[in-house]
Amino acid sequence: MRTLVLNAGYEPLAVVTFRRALLLVLAEKASIVVEDVAAPVRSTHGQLPRPTVIVLKRYVRRPYRSMNHVSRRGVLRRDHFRCAYCGRAANTIDHVIPRSRGGLNTWENLVAACLPCNSRKADKTLAQLGWKLKFTPREPSYGGHLISGLDRIDETWNEYLQAS
Ligand SMILES: [Zn+2]
Repeated sequence: MRTLVLNAGYEPLAVVTFRRALLLVLAEKASIVVEDVAAPVRSTHGQLPRPTVIVLKRYVRRPYRSMNHVSRRGVLRRDHFRCAYCGRAANTIDHVIPRSRGGLNTWENLVAACLPCNSRKADKTLAQLGWKLKFTPREPSYGGHLISGLDRIDETWNEYLQAS
């Protein structure tokens, strides 16, 4: 179940899971515009509304494309901090086509990599190593993770679940 997030100016901003949307509402960062009254969210704290459309209380600046600028952190997040080569926890990023071979700083050419894989790969190509990517790197779709403060809200949600 997905929820449409509207900016404070009521223009569509992102589509997030209803959980994220509910978190924004519970954190008083957003208000519910439309809720699915037929399907409330059940929790041990009772029923909560299931938001279909929410509107942020504060305007989120979204300069053209700047949200999707490729960044180390953005790549790690997109890849869920998992190495694209071996699947283990990753905290470095790697150029699939090495920079020395003309590889660019793009979403399609950058992946999360663990330090051992990154070191072994160095400036070699996948073909040289016989390695395969576990997924095809793409520019992430425009989504809720781009709204600042969501990480903290996720923590709030976890605490909320643990408390119940
Ligand atoms: Zn690895």
